[in-house]
Amino acid sequence: MSDDLPISEKRALILERMEEAAKRAGRNDESVLVAVSKVQPDTRIEEMLAAGQKVFGENRVQEAQTRWGETFAGHRETVELRLIGPLQTNKAEDAVRLFDVIETLDREKLAKALIKAAKKVGRMPRLLVQVNTGEEEQKAGIAPKELSNFLALLKSDYNITPEGLMCIPPVGEAASPHFWLLEKLAHQNGLKIISMGMSSDFETAIKMGATHIRVGSALFGARDYA
Ligand SMILES: *Cc1c(COP(=O)(O)O)cnc(C)c1O
Repeated sequence: MSDDLPISEKRALILERMEEAAKRAGRNDESVLVAVSKVQPDTRIEEMLAAGQKVFGENRVQEAQTRWGETFAGHRETVELRLIGPLQTNKAEDAVRLFDVIETLDREKLAKALIKAAKKVGRMPRLLVQVNTGEEEQKAGIAPKELSNFLALLKSDYNITPEGLMCIPPVGEAASPHFWLLEKLAHQNGLKIISMGMSSDFETAIKMGATHIRVGSALFGARDYA
């Protein structure tokens, strides 16, 4: 992708591709574009906000606190912030304070920590359960076969009803079987929100039922980890 385009044009192109993908799939609902702002420089975030983007995803609590609690605190009220990275229990309270949605609930211990934090803070973000669709050992997320028991436990013991599911397919594999599985699991469990698809495969995700796609580099330009 042309990395030299202004951010607003990059965003307009992605929105266009999303619309085309939805049309091809015969969908008449619109997927939400989550702009993944991790590691991006402030100038790019500023341009993205100026372009009218309202939904952002971050994968680290501390980085997100600096960006949205300090640098862009003035925008915090009008932006929806979504945590899309793994959450440690000792960061649960910070996450509950900062985020509107936590997409990575995947274990009982974390549910417990979130409940405790929510009581203290006086608010609970909306929640998605992360599913490890590739059953990768090192990856966060609940195994597909354990999902319905986990959802039942969340309901019975914590009175938590997640609004949907998210997944990150294994690197180097075709994503579509994983998207297919996540959509099926959401449907089986009566969950409406499906977060899947990134820069390289969001059109496939839309075709397979994503309600939220998480796009970073295709929107902002490459991340510079140096
Ligand atoms: C970084 C990240 C993305 C965005 O990745 P791109 O390939 O840059 O679009 C999406 N989802 C999660 C969970 C991420 O950590």
